[in-house]
Amino acid sequence: MNSFSSVLRRNHKISCLSADLGGHISMQTLAKLIAYLFLALISVLVLCCMRTAVLIYTRPPPPPPCARNETEGYIDSAGSWGRLKRAVQFETVSYSPHHYNKQQIEAFGRYLTQAFPSIFHSRYVRHDIINGYSMLLAVRGKNASLQPYMLMAHMDVVPVVQSEWVWNGFGANESPDGNRMYGRGVIDNKGQLMAILEALSYMLNKGDQPVRSFFVSLGHDEEVGGEDGAAQVANELRRRGYNQLAFIVDEGMVVLDGLIPGFSFAGVGVTEKGSLNLNISVRAEGGHSSMPPAQSSIGILATAVSRLESNPHPLIFDELTEDFVEKIALDLPFPLNVICSNIWIFKPLIKWVLSKGMTKSMIQTTTAVTMIHGGLKSNVIPPSAWAIVNHRIHPSQTIQQIIDRDIAVINDDRVHVEKMKNFVAAEAHPVSPHDPTKDWPYHVLEKSVRQIYPKAVALPVSMVANTDTRHFLDFTKHIFRHNPVRLHVKELPMIHGRDEFITRSSFESSINFFYHLMLNANEKVEVLPPLEHTTEL
Ligand SMILES: [Zn+2]
Repeated sequence: MNSFSSVLRRNHKISCLSADLGGHISMQTLAKLIAYLFLALISVLVLCCMRTAVLIYTRPPPPPPCARNETEGYIDSAGSWGRLKRAVQFETVSYSPHHYNKQQIEAFGRYLTQAFPSIFHSRYVRHDIINGYSMLLAVRGKNASLQPYMLMAHMDVVPVVQSEWVWNGFGANESPDGNRMYGRGVIDNKGQLMAILEALSYMLNKGDQPVRSFFVSLGHDEEVGGEDGAAQVANELRRRGYNQLAFIVDEGMVVLDGLIPGFSFAGVGVTEKGSLNLNISVRAEGGHSSMPPAQSSIGILATAVSRLESNPHPLIFDELTEDFVEKIALDLPFPLNVICSNIWIFKPLIKWVLSKGMTKSMIQTTTAVTMIHGGLKSNVIPPSAWAIVNHRIHPSQTIQQIIDRDIAVINDDRVHVEKMKNFVAAEAHPVSPHDPTKDWPYHVLEKSVRQIYPKAVALPVSMVANTDTRHFLDFTKHIFRHNPVRLHVKELPMIHGRDEFITRSSFESSINFFYHLMLNANEKVEVLPPLEHTTEL
């Protein structure tokens, strides 16, 4: 009985309240509601600002910047620029897997051994040609108990369509002021290759031996998959017992200006998107065009393609994106810094912003229809039609998930979806640990970036293109894809495009970067498992 009357009383209260809200809210109640809402809003804003302030004031100070010629004028400006010029003139073009300009790659390799006598005649360096063309240098450190790391670059380049270029693709011509050099590969990737060798040569010329040993791997067919080059270097390292490395740095994201006005960021690829080519095909009845079916194979295929394009894969705001946004946050002006420091509340807004620019491909599996074919003759109903869809897979998704979703989106049994033949699909790479306070390898890389580019923030990102690191995924979980040249976002299309150029200051900063990386890697922090190798470097 008691409980029954209490239920009645409660129901009465609720109906009074709903009458209050639905029917006639008194002015007093309304004012109270607005005041509460206002107070809540202010509290959230204060909380957001406080969190931003705490993040700003607790972040560790950047390392002191390192000038190009800080101590002994170590960058031989004229010499290194001249050697790069010569390097670019070798037409080391890769065309397709196992098909590349062998004669020029061999000549380039020979040139390197002559250009850097301090490396190739050093008692600390072992030099091997792998599979005929790739090069593997082993630099012996003083402390053999430290796990070695590896620097990578590649000797080959993509072809030049000379009619599209203003400059000679292999001329290594300079701008009139001498500050730019044009040529295929100056950025991708001979600039990086030469910068590594210049830094190593400088160190050895001084008579210094590194504390930690390291390898330098120069592949010769990266642009066509690296099966003959990097994959064989990996086998050679395994053969020598070096199947574990402290970390790897290979080509990758650059130091980029212009993405956000007044802001420069050094992208560090801590993972690589996967890649997948799907062949989407339709077979249907052929016949004469005078008696057409309701929908031809081309029509069915066109509908499938249209469905794929109008149903893009979802935007994914994962942990890596959070880290990226939080890193960028502290250098942004108010109120952007407050927004980006408080993902917990502004996530939908940030996701929307990221989906609007170049950053979209970082947070999504992309879909690009790159080829289509159908039809034989103007008056024949096509018996078949096919298209190729290229996906770059987000690190949190798998090849199978992408295929399953595409089939579901197409939703048509007449359309056949399969992996393209003669193309090796690749899963996305694992994400390398990238907390500079906990992960020593990332700390070494970030410190080197900040020493050379003090105004650029090192940002962990997902690399959208592919590199030779795919052959070394089992050697270490600490793989970083970074090319320490400075570019404006508008200049990115020249990579694999036309009139590729490098500035002298970018090239010298790259040398400086690798030299500092070699020094920073000597830090006696060893949080890695001990060596288990059996043979010498
Ligand atoms: Zn490359």
